[in-house]
Amino acid sequence: MKKSSYHMTTEQFRTEGKKVIDWIADYYENIDKYPVLSQAKPGEIKAALPENPPQTGESMEVMMCDLDEKIMPGITHWQSPNFYAFFPSNTSFPSILGDLISSGLGVQGMIWATSPAATELETRVLDWLADMMGMPEKFKSTSTGGGVLQDTASTSALTAMIAARERATNFQSNKTGIQQKLVAYISTQTHSSLEKAAKICGIGSENLRMIVVDEKFAMRTDLLKEQIQKDKAAGLTPFFICAALGTTSSNAVDPVRKIGEIARKENCWFHIDAAMSGTAMVCPEFRHFQDGVELADSYCFNPHKWMFTNFDCDVFWVGNREELINTFSILPEYLRNQATESGQVFDYRDWHVQLGRRFRSLKLWFVIRHYGVEGLQFHIRNHVKLAQNFTQWINESDDFELFVEPPFNLVCFRHKAGDDFNMKLMNAVNATGKAYFTHTKLNGQVVLRMSIGQTNTEENHVRDTWDLIREIAREIS
Ligand code: PLP
Repeated sequence: MKKSSYHMTTEQFRTEGKKVIDWIADYYENIDKYPVLSQAKPGEIKAALPENPPQTGESMEVMMCDLDEKIMPGITHWQSPNFYAFFPSNTSFPSILGDLISSGLGVQGMIWATSPAATELETRVLDWLADMMGMPEKFKSTSTGGGVLQDTASTSALTAMIAARERATNFQSNKTGIQQKLVAYISTQTHSSLEKAAKICGIGSENLRMIVVDEKFAMRTDLLKEQIQKDKAAGLTPFFICAALGTTSSNAVDPVRKIGEIARKENCWFHIDAAMSGTAMVCPEFRHFQDGVELADSYCFNPHKWMFTNFDCDVFWVGNREELINTFSILPEYLRNQATESGQVFDYRDWHVQLGRRFRSLKLWFVIRHYGVEGLQFHIRNHVKLAQNFTQWINESDDFELFVEPPFNLVCFRHKAGDDFNMKLMNAVNATGKAYFTHTKLNGQVVLRMSIGQTNTEENHVRDTWDLIREIAREIS
């Protein structure tokens, strides 16, 4: 017999939805029962899944069963309190609920008219954040600039570089293609997303200068100045400089004011990539790290890394929104509407590459309202304190050494027994499933990274991991 509808009913949704919330709550209660790093072998998860889709619909019960049996073994538990790898991508229950409601509303907020609240809540929340983080007035919508949510810091870097390209070419390169030889500047430690941006936006990676860093892995501004002069003498046009507030390898902080002053003098767009460490600016005691931020044309940071807001959520601020809008605005007939034409509203599709956009501000709004400024400060300070404790243990140990003083919550350290030993140690710790951390190379040497920013990480977790690292180091010595 033919069905009149295949949809899930609201009654079924109510019942199954409650079970899903319980499933998530159970997951968090039992998260330490899973190996932090998935132990799945390549192809194993795919092999457990049928080759063909079902011809007839299946029950949620069967799907949830497969989730437990076939999918969970292939999950690396980013939300485990013993996740110290890369940078965190933490979340929180208010964020999950906000995201769920966003899915429930199913809003596509490409322009103001397609859901005024999606635009206006975003504007309000990003103005709140600007105040919460001591940002210059110009980054606020009430001034010349404003903020917009992007998916990732990579997209923000690309957006910034495209706007910089347009400004440097008097908004002509969008029309004629790039006629000038434009040159951009980052450091050797800047995140690879900047190189990707240079490739994608037509600058070319050969026109991206990677400036050498000092002993703290921060950009050397004397070399930046020198390189700019060389490029100008060769008839090239410097147009973009990026400073990192917390590099990926070691969390190094570039000298923001000095770089900003050079950018001003040389008429370059100044972007600050604070993807990981921007969150720390909620605490006034860390703001000295971004002294000179008022010189920036754009700034991005990821609440989806350290601000308890689930992936994806990147904040991108500009000091002059007209430059951004002039770069990205395009108005086909089918998007024309009264609100846009009145000039009284923001249409965020003019602030980035894509047209369609999720209602991301809802989860951020829930997070800020749940924790309050005070709650966010409390947990950020706690992570930094845990990193300081870990640093102290390293300093007190005979076998391990600190590689560089941590400004925030990433500790770079190594065992004194050399590169191979450090790699072996890291792999052995990760194979226990009790903790997960990763490595980098600095000055050609393997360095272990302990990145402490998971929502539920407490002192006992860090202490147990330190004991585990030492125990395994003794075993493999
Ligand atoms: N910038 C820095 C300093 C990062 O550490 C990262 C990622 O870890 C990025 C940019 C890219 O972040 P996203 O994944 O949001 O593009």
